[in-house]
Amino acid sequence: MGKLSKSLEEWQQELSPEVYHVTREGGTEPPFSGKYVTQNEKGTYVCACCQAPLFHSDTKYNSGSGWPSFYNVIHPDNIITLQDTRHGMVRTEIRCSQCGAHLGHRFEDGPTPTGLRYCINSVSLSHSPENND
Ligand code: FE
Repeated sequence: MGKLSKSLEEWQQELSPEVYHVTREGGTEPPFSGKYVTQNEKGTYVCACCQAPLFHSDTKYNSGSGWPSFYNVIHPDNIITLQDTRHGMVRTEIRCSQCGAHLGHRFEDGPTPTGLRYCINSVSLSHSPENND
């Protein structure tokens, strides 16, 4: 997957203020506020900034956390992980590998088969429905 590099000024012109804040400034949407928290429709969740495919509805589950939660990614190459030590915690931050957008965090309290919980901001995603079934 190729790298997409834009200046913060370019992103600011393209993105809504809330998408810009979460994806480019590492913000977090308030829990239970996002439009995909209870979304159950089949489809692919792509990066809100660059449309790279990130998560599939088949791996989405209700974690009760207030953020959309997935137990796996579509392809490990589509994300990068970083250690995030902000707010007095050590967490694994998840970003889009193509454009660097902040997506959320990964925790190790997810369901089988991975045991992982990708805790993702709704505003970092765009849902692309499947119309073939
Ligand atoms: Fe992206």
